[in-house]
Amino acid sequence: MSETHTEIRDAVRRLCGQFPGPYWRAKDRDRAYPSEFVAALTEAGFLSVLIPETYGGSGLGLGAATAVLEEIHRSGCNGGACHAQMYTMGTLLKHGSEGQKQSYLPKIATGELRLQAFGVTEPGAGTDTTRITTFARREGDDFIVNGQKIWISRAEHSDLMVLLCRTTARDESVKSSDGMSVLLVDLRQAVGNGLTIRPIRTMLNHATTELFFDDLRVPVTHLIGQEGKGFRYILDGMNAERILIAAECIGDAKFLLIAHLPTPRNGRCSGVLSVQIRGSSSPSPGLMCRCAPRT
Ligand SMILES: Cc1cc2nc3c(=O)[nH]c(=O)nc-3n(C[C@H](O)[C@H](O)[C@H](O)COP(=O)(O)OP(=O)(O)OC[C@H]3O[C@@H](n4cnc5c(N)ncnc54)[C@H](O)[C@@H]3O)c2cc1C
Repeated sequence: MSETHTEIRDAVRRLCGQFPGPYWRAKDRDRAYPSEFVAALTEAGFLSVLIPETYGGSGLGLGAATAVLEEIHRSGCNGGACHAQMYTMGTLLKHGSEGQKQSYLPKIATGELRLQAFGVTEPGAGTDTTRITTFARREGDDFIVNGQKIWISRAEHSDLMVLLCRTTARDESVKSSDGMSVLLVDLRQAVGNGLTIRPIRTMLNHATTELFFDDLRVPVTHLIGQEGKGFRYILDGMNAERILIAAECIGDAKFLLIAHLPTPRNGRCSGVLSVQIRGSSSPSPGLMCRCAPRT
């Protein structure tokens, strides 16, 4: 696979060199969030590559963002702690009002605000998102939210959360994918005032949680886009998410191969390891690796 964005890759690799294996193993042992690593990535501007320059980011494309995440994982680090800071803002960027973008995006770009939680999945609604039942009822200038979410990652390490909920019941909507809306929830105010966050213990120290909504008030001004159109907005954002997480998986594969690929000469690849990902259209899909002498 040809590599692009070599300057970005080199810079990410240098940064990741400050966070070697023992750092990650200690975090895993202590079930601790890698705050220092996230702070370093933020300061270097790597988490704001997708935010347009007008709002304080570097205005680069998805290719640059995949290079960042692939290199993080190729270096043995874990982007899962903060990758959503890169792409969750896409819902706001594409569908938010100009006022909302001006208020939040510059602060997300500097890391002053963390928007790295998105609440979609529910105990009774996984793959079929149209089955969600968390409901936001309009009351004056607020929505009153009741319901439950599960597997909501990084909620304890985020200031804001993109929340998908129903504003019209499924059986009252023309299409099952209608009647869902996106709210931008300020977690700093919500926790203890109608929102309870309960951590779920997972493998790989993944900071994920269950959320319980009990009459949480969210101002109507925090509605993103049009009421009832939220499902489409969430799907828009998921395309970027899937591509970026795929880049992390490629990085993981390279990290593991580099660390463990044996060669007859000295038990490790001492030359240049090339990894080719062959797609399903190839006669033999999968990973192909080759260790060539360094030239
Ligand atoms: C560690 C972790 C972190 C997560 N973080 C977040 C997060 O931050 N925010 C969030 O909203 N969600 C999050 N999720 C939830 C994740 O996106 C869901 O797990 C996913 O949507 C699948 O839902 P489910 O687990 O209920 O599986 P199910 O929907 O029960 O699906 C199980 C399997 O059945 C298959 N299947 C389902 N329906 C059909 C069908 N009709 N026909 C054929 N096959 C079918 C699916 O493809 C899948 O393989 C996280 C999950 C995990 C494990």
